[in-house]
Amino acid sequence: ADIPTAAISRLVTYLRILEQLETQDVSRTSSNDLAERAQVSAFQVRKDLAYFGRFGTRGMGYTVPILKRELVRVLGLNRTWSVVIVGMGRLGQAIANYPGASDYRFQYVGLFDVNPQIVGQNIRDLRVQHTEQLGDFVSATPVDMGFLAVPPDRAQDAAQALVDAGVRGILNFAPVVIQPRTTERGGVSEPGDEWRNVTIENVDFLAGMKRLAFYILNPTLKAALTE
Ligand code: NAD
Repeated sequence: ADIPTAAISRLVTYLRILEQLETQDVSRTSSNDLAERAQVSAFQVRKDLAYFGRFGTRGMGYTVPILKRELVRVLGLNRTWSVVIVGMGRLGQAIANYPGASDYRFQYVGLFDVNPQIVGQNIRDLRVQHTEQLGDFVSATPVDMGFLAVPPDRAQDAAQALVDAGVRGILNFAPVVIQPRTTERGGVSEPGDEWRNVTIENVDFLAGMKRLAFYILNPTLKAALTE
């Protein structure tokens, strides 16, 4: 079945809830309980989980550590993920210095910038390298994800550099839509082969503020949309 992206976002939420329950020594939960804590319906919880298997016993609910372990496995968080950050300005440095990523097995393995004042600096035990070195670096050190924290007008080229180097996942913080490079094939233009199976996730807190502005001005619309 096609799994909606919103279901994956909810899995991440369920996992966070399960981790919380675990720290509170709660050992059992149910779709009703998870639903209430995630503010979705119990039907939604069951449906989201059903995409990936059967994790509970009918009428018995779920064992917290087991469901947690399964969600960790489904999301791929039981393995190490090597991450590079491209753009080590304010945001790139803030991300690199934020300790949360190491709660999971996300590991920063390389930091890149083009500014000579930043290249060569040590940030969190890593020496910032020039973006020109990205290709060589990735051929020597497998990289799973690239975080793009470059200015908007640099994001497209930096994304292409990551994909050319073989990176398959990009977390894009720049407020631009990344376009795959296209090639002509038999008169039709299609994404270049290097873009096959590349996933881009956009993170944009300003977009969140814009939605918030709208909903503060139109509170009844928000209610109508969630009903
Ligand atoms: P900044 O100017 O402080 O840092 C950008 C850095 O990118 C600079 O150090 C610059 O030298 C470097 N750079 C430029 N071209 C590069 C390239 N080709 N390869 C590697 N590095 C390169 O900017 P900032 O405030 O850190 O913001 C970075 C990006 O993040 C911007 O696009 C900004 O709009 C965006 N942003 C997003 C969010 C969000 O929530 N998604 C929040 C803040 C900023």
